[in-house]
Amino acid sequence: MSYTKDDILREGKTKIIRCGPDEESLIMCYKDTATAFDGAKKEDLAGKGKLNAAISHKIYTYLARHGIETHLIGVIDDTSALVKKAEIIMVEVIIRNVAAGSFSKRYGVAEGTALNNTVIEFSLKNDDLGDPMINESQITALGLATLEELAEMAGQALRINELLSRLFAQAGIKLVDFKLEFGRSSGKILLCDEISPDSCRLWDMKTHEKLDKDRFRGDSGNVLDGYQDVLGRLKNV
Ligand code: UDP
Repeated sequence: MSYTKDDILREGKTKIIRCGPDEESLIMCYKDTATAFDGAKKEDLAGKGKLNAAISHKIYTYLARHGIETHLIGVIDDTSALVKKAEIIMVEVIIRNVAAGSFSKRYGVAEGTALNNTVIEFSLKNDDLGDPMINESQITALGLATLEELAEMAGQALRINELLSRLFAQAGIKLVDFKLEFGRSSGKILLCDEISPDSCRLWDMKTHEKLDKDRFRGDSGNVLDGYQDVLGRLKNV
């Protein structure tokens, strides 16, 4: 699909949001840019956009089939999708099944440590501030979301965790942790943004090999080979 610069509404680190064909929709385009550490590390990886688009579309279609309301209307081409316009809630929801990343660092627990229960965290969606962790009373105090909205987001996130843990397990992959974003649209809370190896930690079930963005964060192994592996395995389930 061809676009003009005038179509661009917003350009983020890894995606471009363009005007949709009507007032109720937008076009979300995946870029090849990889970023980590709040944008401090940045590189173009040719083909990443296509891989993330394919993985995210597969996951969103699966979630929609299982009753999750998402912003995805349809796939346009290899790197873009038509999505419902939504007012993005500036709170990210993080779900953890195994200790890793900032959780391991903050609490001094080795990566890979099993957790007694699923962890749910909220963080402020603000790169300049490094997406700081934020609690419910802070979120409501700042007017970012209501308690009802947070309960809805948390409930959906836990349900998505159940569904995705099962899907990835069928592909021989452990869903270690992931980040979700939600938006308000026509009085409903919709799952927005993407779910891909950029926003999830995905480990091979048997070897614990990392197949996700940690390869980029840690300069360990070919990043796109990991993403391709995830897509290939999802295609087989
Ligand atoms: N994550 C994300 N975007 C963010 C922060 C985190 O997609 O801005 C994802 C990250 O890829 C991982 C999970 O959320 O799958 C938990 O990330 P963590 O808090 O461990 O932070 P990080 O290690 O990325 O600093």
